[in-house]
Amino acid sequence: MFSYWEQQSFTQYQHIIIGAGIVGLSVAIELRQRFPKDSILILERGMMSTGASSRNAGFACMGSVTELLADLKTMPEEDVLQLFARRKKGLEILRQRLGDDRIGYATNGSYELIDEANLPAIEKLQYLNQLLYPFCHSEAFRLANERIAGFGFDQDFTKALIENTCEGELHTGKMLRALSDLALDHNIEIKTNAAVSHFEETEKGVHVFVPDSLRNESWALHCDKLYICTNAFTKQLLPQENVVPGRGQVLLTKPIEQLPFKGIFHFDDGYYYFRVIDNRVLFGGGRNLDFSTEQTTEIALNRNIQEHLEQLLRNVILPRTPFEIEQQWAGIMAFGDSKTPIVKAFSPRIFGAFRMGGMGVALGSEVAEYLVRDIAL
Ligand SMILES: Cc1cc2nc3c(=O)[nH]c(=O)nc-3n(C[C@H](O)[C@H](O)[C@H](O)COP(=O)(O)OP(=O)(O)OC[C@H]3O[C@@H](n4cnc5c(N)ncnc54)[C@H](O)[C@@H]3O)c2cc1C
Repeated sequence: MFSYWEQQSFTQYQHIIIGAGIVGLSVAIELRQRFPKDSILILERGMMSTGASSRNAGFACMGSVTELLADLKTMPEEDVLQLFARRKKGLEILRQRLGDDRIGYATNGSYELIDEANLPAIEKLQYLNQLLYPFCHSEAFRLANERIAGFGFDQDFTKALIENTCEGELHTGKMLRALSDLALDHNIEIKTNAAVSHFEETEKGVHVFVPDSLRNESWALHCDKLYICTNAFTKQLLPQENVVPGRGQVLLTKPIEQLPFKGIFHFDDGYYYFRVIDNRVLFGGGRNLDFSTEQTTEIALNRNIQEHLEQLLRNVILPRTPFEIEQQWAGIMAFGDSKTPIVKAFSPRIFGAFRMGGMGVALGSEVAEYLVRDIAL
């Protein structure tokens, strides 16, 4: 039972976006730039974004050497290059939109640790540099073996080190806070604890249903256009879409005095990544150890993977430095049969942008711009 006032003032919108992650917020901001007077609502099922955008590692990444080479084995070269260019552009939009200070953006160096099995990748540096030159206008990758000893990594594991000149890092919390503050400043309404159960398209628009347990009934909101930005959770609303969830595990140490390295680091086709934040080491990955368990939308720790991360941290990354783990968490990414995100129109009124893989920090803003500028208008 809804009041007349509720129905008059809280149920009619021109644009409704589902999902308040990087993509949903960025879509809303893109819409506001084009439609200064339209009513725009974001519906988020959690108290805040509850998927990947507040739980990632904050790498502003384009792809490491082994990851790009792995992609080139499964995707056409043109698609790999296009994705690289889109991540680069997305990062530019994000930095320009929010400002480096506000998001803690920095370039403290980006490196990939190369183990014995991946040594052949070094032969491909020149090839990759040539491929990426049109986007980077300089050498994307160079060998930096002289830094291995100074960084203190285990040298039995780390046979080579590749420096990546295109990547940076940011503070994920500051970035998401700045993005939601910007949306609020732009008169975009955000409703949290609003999990959309389903939607129905009519001749005049789209009805979007949100169960409300306090009222024992569902809100039926109405919009002219609906944008689905639910990443790994998309199948609940669009069961036919090729989206597979992939959980990511992360741990964080207590502050460590005199850490011998700074910047962001990857290894093993991008399956592992670590960085320094506030004198702590943040280390994540290991999904490839247990793909089937991690193919879930449940936000929970995987003890085996967390233990493996701790071992690698002790043996490879900080072999001579004592540390304690302070925090562990997990977040949910979205994958599928291609790394290219899905950005499309389902009808003249219903659009989607999801399946952001493990690089949505950089890619998210470009995807939002593309959806609003090229697909939805
Ligand atoms: C552990 C981890 C580390 C990562 N590290 C990096 C990194 O270093 N660099 C990088 O570029 N990327 C990284 N990523 C990936 C990156 O975080 C994602 O690609 C990006 O955040 C995706 O943004 P999104 O808005 O598409 O999805 P999400 O942030 O998941 O947002 C989707 C939102 O939709 C909401 N939602 C879902 N269903 C509904 C519904 N029915 N009704 C209402 N709301 C709904 C969810 O609650 C969620 O808030 C990492 C991800 C994880 C998990």
